[in-house]
Amino acid sequence: MKSIDSTENLQRIDAAHHIHPFTDGKQLAEIGTRIITSADGVFLKDSEGNTLLDGMAGLWCVAIGYGRKELADVAAQQMLELPYYNTFFQTSHVPAIQLSKRLAELAPGDLNHVFFSGSGSEANDTNLRLVRHYWAAKGKPNKQIIISRWNAYHGSTVAAASLGGMKSMHKQGALPIFGIEHINQPDWWSEGGDMTPEEFGLARARELEAKILEVGEENVAAFIAEPIQGAGGVIIPPDSYWPEVQRILNKYEILFIADEVICGFGRTGEWFATQVYNLKPDVMTIAKGLSSGYAPIGGSLISDEVAEVIKNAGDFNHGYTYSAHPVSAAVALENLRILDEEGIVDRVSDTLSSYFAKKWASLSEHPMVGSANSKGLVASLVLTPNKESRAKFASEAGTVGLICRERCFSNNLVMRHVGDRMIVSPPLIITESEIDLLIERAWKSIDEAYEQVK
Ligand code: PLP
Repeated sequence: MKSIDSTENLQRIDAAHHIHPFTDGKQLAEIGTRIITSADGVFLKDSEGNTLLDGMAGLWCVAIGYGRKELADVAAQQMLELPYYNTFFQTSHVPAIQLSKRLAELAPGDLNHVFFSGSGSEANDTNLRLVRHYWAAKGKPNKQIIISRWNAYHGSTVAAASLGGMKSMHKQGALPIFGIEHINQPDWWSEGGDMTPEEFGLARARELEAKILEVGEENVAAFIAEPIQGAGGVIIPPDSYWPEVQRILNKYEILFIADEVICGFGRTGEWFATQVYNLKPDVMTIAKGLSSGYAPIGGSLISDEVAEVIKNAGDFNHGYTYSAHPVSAAVALENLRILDEEGIVDRVSDTLSSYFAKKWASLSEHPMVGSANSKGLVASLVLTPNKESRAKFASEAGTVGLICRERCFSNNLVMRHVGDRMIVSPPLIITESEIDLLIERAWKSIDEAYEQVK
């Protein structure tokens, strides 16, 4: 008889009782879940004894890598001292106060204020209510529309999924909610046609201006965007895109919400990607790398001007039981200390980004790989039957990507697919030899997928 915690038994119980996020339940019951049992550094162990290189840092979050005892110690100490208290009704606690100060120090510009949530999705829910409340408080209650982009991902709650531009999500639950408009994404490879990347970047940026004029500046509260669209396939925009968007944002009276849930805390080589692209957000969404995923926490960083209006507008009738949860806040503080004092963010910008970029780009020598781009330690490549014409596969989008992802698992590499794009976002503590291993396993997996589909 199989032991109670054999893989087979665990899979059976999981399939019977556990509904997984973003998963086809029937398929899962047939194939069985992969059960991760422990992790260290950039490596995961599964219940079958395999050791996988985690090219995704969990879900883009484990910046400092797995197995850092300091975070466990801080969490245990905080649980003993004050495991829970809230920040409602004129109350606070030390970890919340210290973390808000630290975030104000790290954040660019005058994003000196933070509203805490338990996740990135919740933070974007906060942002929707915050910007509408801000404009109402300023005597402009009609400014309610938020402009976002198709294929953006801003989370899974009702408001965050509405802000996102994933049509497959909108289809379930009658989304988007009122007042969300979408413009096209700056994905040159798939949608750029005959334009140069620079022409295309400008054209896509100008869709923002066209949308503002279409719906009326007097009705627009904010524009929300990820500096690099992550879950949409790591869409790194052409260089012309962000300067033109920022020019348009400066021209009109609308707020800019930069969603840094993936890009924040060093992923792109600066603490925040808005610094890489010289953007000036009024509100910034943070989560994931804030605690390296060791404890759930998110937040909205808010500019002096917006905070001033909100603070003087009476009660903000909004908050979560776990806003600034003391254990999560203490863990986040320790994570930020490690990122800073161990020079992890500096190392990404000084040496690792260029090493990784060169290695990642070498994958484009494979006959089935179109472009292979990266920024800092986030990267994508496009699988294509013809790189010159930037052709798509005849099979349904994602078929080849899925085959490639499965080959990666067989080769002990976690690499995600979005359609026929392959994406990675490894822990920021990855070493050069681990990058070599990642590239070696990626090449082998792409090649095996190629043999299967060519
Ligand atoms: N925003 C972005 C850009 C994300 O990538 C994600 C999650 O992947 C979210 C928001 C939602 O964060 P969470 O899953 O913590 O709710």
